[in-house]
Amino acid sequence: MKNIRQVEPYVPGEQPKDTDVIKLNTNENPYPPSPKVVNKKLDLEKLRIYSDPEVTKLVNALARYHGLSDDQVFVGVGSDDVLAMSFMTFFNSDKPILFPDITYSFYDVWAELFRIPYETKALNDDFEIVPEDYFGENGGVVFPNPNAPTCVYMPLDNVKRILDNNRDVVVIVDEAYVDYAEESALSLLEEYDNLLIVRTFSKSRSMAGMRIGYAMGNPELIHALNNVKFSFNSYTMNYLSIELGVCSVEDDEYFKAMIEKVKNTREWFTNELTRLGFTYPKTSTNFVFATHERISAKELFEAAKKEKIYLRYFNKPRIDNYLRITIGTDDQMKKLISFFEKKLK
Ligand SMILES: *Cc1c(COP(=O)(O)O)cnc(C)c1O
Repeated sequence: MKNIRQVEPYVPGEQPKDTDVIKLNTNENPYPPSPKVVNKKLDLEKLRIYSDPEVTKLVNALARYHGLSDDQVFVGVGSDDVLAMSFMTFFNSDKPILFPDITYSFYDVWAELFRIPYETKALNDDFEIVPEDYFGENGGVVFPNPNAPTCVYMPLDNVKRILDNNRDVVVIVDEAYVDYAEESALSLLEEYDNLLIVRTFSKSRSMAGMRIGYAMGNPELIHALNNVKFSFNSYTMNYLSIELGVCSVEDDEYFKAMIEKVKNTREWFTNELTRLGFTYPKTSTNFVFATHERISAKELFEAAKKEKIYLRYFNKPRIDNYLRITIGTDDQMKKLISFFEKKLK
């Protein structure tokens, strides 16, 4: 057939149908969402009417939570939706946009889909972003901080230098994992009108299945994003996402407690990995990017899967001997360590 668009889609981590697996392959939170979310009684008769196209309630809750005004927040169907909208809205140049060679593998897919020219910049040998690589003329910049799947955090001073050298284009900082990291770029929002920060409820807020993401930036950027959204689909956020999203934001105590739990497990687990001969960059996320001195990542990945432990493996240059391992519960991580112990004997 003629005229059919050919695209190479993003391949997400596997979602096994089996329920008795240890699932450490897509960086979900092992703990449930806040009890305020789980126990919320909703009036489902309201599904009869269209949801609020402005998503006012959730925008307002997030703005208050971050000390911003409503016109600095945009909400979408997961951060994938927010990022896709942002690519469409802000990356409209003949000059290439820039992002790291090893990074979230959706960026090149969107660039191809929206026919945006792009160039990748190599991480250094420690898997760090080299700020100077992003100083030349370009059509915009996007990177996660901390980066994925490398788990490496870039200090804010370096984020600032990238922003300083790109005053006339939009710099998107994808903060999917920032709740497990040192510091958000939020404090830079006042100073930089070229900064767009993107966040998700999928990882630290335990709500991957609800599909909520958001962007924070100056009102001009947020207004531009809304114009593109309303040119595409006005009712992206359903009633349940809006109501339950607000419940999550309102329970900060639970949110912070679960983050501490994951960080404590991370501390224990990374020490165990070291004991077993793994190496990994310092992690600022809810996952570890590890390689072993003796056994290949691919072999470990396949052997773990046979034991119903799902890890993430990328058959890509530079990282094909690494495993990305999500931090689960203490019990799950103990089982994984026992598996490694047996396998490495
Ligand atoms: C998980 C992830 C996302 C997407 O999250 P959703 O909100 O579930 O769409 C975006 N960026 C990075 C770096 C991620 O790891």
